[in-house]
Amino acid sequence: MKKWLLYIILLPLWGFSQSGADELVNVRELIPDIVLDLRYNTTNNFIGEKLYSTDECFLSHIVVERLILVQDSLRNIRLHDNIAYPQGLGLKIWDGYRPRAVQYLMWDILPDPRFVANPEFGSSHNRGAAVDVTLVDNATGEELPMPTDFDDFSDQAGHNYTNLPANIIANRLLLRNLMVDVGGFSLLNTEWWHYSYGPARVYPLLDFQMK
Ligand SMILES: [Zn+2]
Repeated sequence: MKKWLLYIILLPLWGFSQSGADELVNVRELIPDIVLDLRYNTTNNFIGEKLYSTDECFLSHIVVERLILVQDSLRNIRLHDNIAYPQGLGLKIWDGYRPRAVQYLMWDILPDPRFVANPEFGSSHNRGAAVDVTLVDNATGEELPMPTDFDDFSDQAGHNYTNLPANIIANRLLLRNLMVDVGGFSLLNTEWWHYSYGPARVYPLLDFQMK
């Protein structure tokens, strides 16, 4: 039997006993206007397989509290880089909490630490401490142009990559400034979309299943 299949069959229902800041919460319940596009619930991801069975996004409570601050700031932006946004901007989430079993599944398919965190040590996503985000125009729901698509592992996805049109750099910088300065998140130099919240990175690895 494949290792990952065994993990899925033997999944214990952990996570329910948590409480407080590290409790996993449904993001949409606390930020109703957030846009969700969980790419691992589709085949449109770097693995090319559907790994989730839900479009609900979970994150630790303390992380959602930080996202609320970022979303509130974005909602009030009416002008950015000389473009008017009559209904403001917002966040779109591509990934949040990720069950550890899915981390094993990813590792089974692509056991390369450059692209997938080794499940033995886990990812901040397995702790509900990391979120993958981009920006949308609230009036249209359209994504703002960014350097790459989600999970593009080229140099172009890095924060220091500058061979880009000025508007794309401005958009990447707006997201970064709000997530870091308003949200208190830490960035990942190689992935412009990935942000983690330091105090939550010590939380236990989880296998709570998203239903
Ligand atoms: Zn990420």
